[in-house]
Amino acid sequence: MKTTELFGSMVFDENTMRQRLPKETFRQLQRTMKNGRSLDINIATVVANAMKDWAVEKGATHYTHWFQPMTGITAEKHDSFITPTSDGRVIMEFSGKELVQGEPDASSFPSGGLRATFEARGYTAWDPTSYAFIKNGILCIPTAFCSYGGHALDKKTPLLRSMEAINRQAMRVLKLFGNQDVTSVKTTVGPEQEYFLVDKKYYEQRKDLLYTGRTLFGAKTPKGQEMEDHYFGTIKSRVQAYMKELNEELWKLGILAKTEHNEVAPAQHELAPIFSTTNIATDHNQLTMELMQRIAKKHDLVCLLHEKPFAGVNGSGKHNNWSISTNTGVNLLEPGETPYENAQFLLFLCAVIKAVDEYQDMLRLSAASAGNDHRLGANEAPPAIVSMFLGSELTEILEAIEQDTSYDAKEKELMRVGVHVLPKFQKDTTDRNRTSPFAFTGNKFEFRMLGSSASIAGPNMVLNTAVAEELRQFADQLEGSADFANDLHRLIQRVIKEHKRIIFNDNGYDEAWVAEAERRGLLNLKTTPDALPYFVHKKNIQLFTTHKVFSEDEMHARYEIMMENYTKTLNIEALTMVDMVRKDILPAVSKYAQQLADTALAKKSLSPDIDSTYETQSVKIISQLSASVFQNMETLEDDLVKAKDIADFEQAAFYYKDVIFSDMTALRAVTDELESITSSQVWPYPSYGKLLFGI
Ligand code: ADP
Ligand code: MG
Repeated sequence: MKTTELFGSMVFDENTMRQRLPKETFRQLQRTMKNGRSLDINIATVVANAMKDWAVEKGATHYTHWFQPMTGITAEKHDSFITPTSDGRVIMEFSGKELVQGEPDASSFPSGGLRATFEARGYTAWDPTSYAFIKNGILCIPTAFCSYGGHALDKKTPLLRSMEAINRQAMRVLKLFGNQDVTSVKTTVGPEQEYFLVDKKYYEQRKDLLYTGRTLFGAKTPKGQEMEDHYFGTIKSRVQAYMKELNEELWKLGILAKTEHNEVAPAQHELAPIFSTTNIATDHNQLTMELMQRIAKKHDLVCLLHEKPFAGVNGSGKHNNWSISTNTGVNLLEPGETPYENAQFLLFLCAVIKAVDEYQDMLRLSAASAGNDHRLGANEAPPAIVSMFLGSELTEILEAIEQDTSYDAKEKELMRVGVHVLPKFQKDTTDRNRTSPFAFTGNKFEFRMLGSSASIAGPNMVLNTAVAEELRQFADQLEGSADFANDLHRLIQRVIKEHKRIIFNDNGYDEAWVAEAERRGLLNLKTTPDALPYFVHKKNIQLFTTHKVFSEDEMHARYEIMMENYTKTLNIEALTMVDMVRKDILPAVSKYAQQLADTALAKKSLSPDIDSTYETQSVKIISQLSASVFQNMETLEDDLVKAKDIADFEQAAFYYKDVIFSDMTALRAVTDELESITSSQVWPYPSYGKLLFGI
């Protein structure tokens, strides 16, 4: 099949709807989708039937409401279309009610106490802004997931609410600039996805990869990424075959997979789609991650989405390219051609600057997870300090506006918003740009803190809501203005003055930046437990409740879920380490020492003159290190026992960060040393060499 025919062939998209629905039904459904109206049940029945016929023709036998619970991965429960008839046969049926609402028995999803067990059945409701699709012979209906009390139990509902919030406020601002033809505003996202591929046969031999998605042990290989020969290098044929199949499967689902290349670390790759509306991009990124993993298995590979699968080489992130655009196709973060367009651009730019400064805590914590703690601040990913890169040119323009000076030394005139045209600035692609957590790249912002395995729903929900809040304040101030041009200029000046501390165009990896950021009063939240408590700070509760993205209850529930998730992750990792050391590593090494000792003894008994320095010295060092590994393991075990007594979820998270994590680090250090002096014949796990260079 040609790519153009393949694309979207498994999606019940606008084209398919037009072909398969009665004209009037199609028209009404379109209205629902574009304006977010609720769907009449009679229309739903017609749509459901057409959808079912289409799906059955494509080989589907089941349908599912496809949703995004707080676990961060997607969930589905399959129901078949079959309905018995009176003559003992079956027909394929799918009702409007089944399309619109589902009731998964959801009592086992994390809810942070929102869904008391007596009302354990949450429900899922179709999100008609996202198309239904067929995956693995299942018709998937993208849905939001709520409790009967109306609380959001998923990642999608708040994201949709945040998109409504920014639409509402951006429309107010656009009216001020006289945009008559614009009827809605949406944010757009293009997430660049990094991942590792390892050989399945090696993966299966490593308990750490199986249980935790990352290696908990592993001595460094002689070669790492220092030669920089993998980045953009030729793609190996096995990987190429994987990428080809992945692309085709993604295209069938209407996902705009566009670029693929090797990344910095050995065995690391990246896939980027063309951007789309934020909630669609979120669905698509979830599907992309799922397909990446599923298709890898078909090629005897395993796709690792963990943020830090290997120590010593780069980890994986997700760059969230974000912008705002109107239904008329105008990108609001793109400087325009006229002074008037530039003024509007500058106001939206200021909304983002103010939002990032005032809600730096929320942005930081939206990217926080146990996995991502290994990256942020570790000289390969952006620092844990949130700052913005605007590039020198745009920064100079903002300075000229702030200080009422001229931008260009040759120009005598002062820089006035709404009077002057901004010069065309080049996209800045310097190294300093790449160290920035939040970089302006000409017509969009690239938020680079996200971890590779995370859903992009959270960070975008924060961005949308924070920017909506600033737009709300701007609209409040400017709506009654008698002298719009002047008041606008003043407002922009004030925002620059008050929030320029967040702008940083230099090297984010530089030690000096940490001290400088502290002087500027910027937050440096190094770990997940340090960051998460900000979620329930008064200012942030105010933000999300004002814009109806979360209720206060929902926020407390989510905070608890996120903290517990951190604790659980570390607990599983720690238990896995103990298991590996006690059951596999120490027994193997002990046996190895015995072999060496036997050899030494054999040599001696043959003739006392035969040198056995290698064997005796090795036995000595191995025995010392094994003892140290054993002690460190015991310490970790003891501390894990103590953790059981901590009832409070906040205290538990901090205990795991402060005590368990350092025990784990200490245990790993000695164990890796032991691996480096043990014969690879006896070490019970495939080495880093095999994992990283083995494909
Ligand atoms: P860069 O070289 O700056 O990374 P690319 O053109 O490669 O830029 O784009 C990177 C990602 O940003 C792609 O996924 C792309 O679709 C996305 N992108 C481009 N424009 C926008 C936009 N207006 N809104 C959101 N994402 C965008
Ligand atoms: Mg990029």
